[in-house]
Amino acid sequence: MSNTHVTRERIDQEVRAALATTLRTEADGIGMDKSIINDLGATSIDFLDINFRLENVFGIQLATQLLLDHVEEELGEGKAIDRDNKVTAAAAELLKIHLGDIPGVEAGMYADEVAATVTPATVADAVDKILEHLPEACPACGASEWKSEDGAKVVCGGCGKDAVYPDGDELTKRWIHDVEREKQLFASA
Ligand SMILES: [Zn+2]
Repeated sequence: MSNTHVTRERIDQEVRAALATTLRTEADGIGMDKSIINDLGATSIDFLDINFRLENVFGIQLATQLLLDHVEEELGEGKAIDRDNKVTAAAAELLKIHLGDIPGVEAGMYADEVAATVTPATVADAVDKILEHLPEACPACGASEWKSEDGAKVVCGGCGKDAVYPDGDELTKRWIHDVEREKQLFASA
């Protein structure tokens, strides 16, 4: 069931607000396609802070691991990142499916450089994908009516409990297996 209670505009707005607060800058000046690391100057600690803010606003759990680390865990060591710490051809294909055609994402890039491809738009996508998984019915009381007072946090129309979504790591794992079943990117790699 898709989530009709939270708009994409609201998600974008909250991503900008989280970045602005964490990086002490103006939300209006943040372009959605900027590299959060290279253009906005965020560190990995900043990412924890940004994610934490978004998790609180929307009542979700974002992925704690990067896509390629999940591939290594799910499909086997060396499948996504080779011995020289470079991205494999199969992993580059997967990244392109995941991120869209972003310049610079290619086989042989250093695994460390992948984090620099994260933009406000890809963070908003990650939030959006989790919110799409609003369950049909409330697991606590069985009511199938959700509501949101603030347009961000969704609660049950029956018992009033917060909606519970699958977490970002779980969804990433599912997505990797779905793509692999269809495309067999890593089967021969
Ligand atoms: Zn309920």
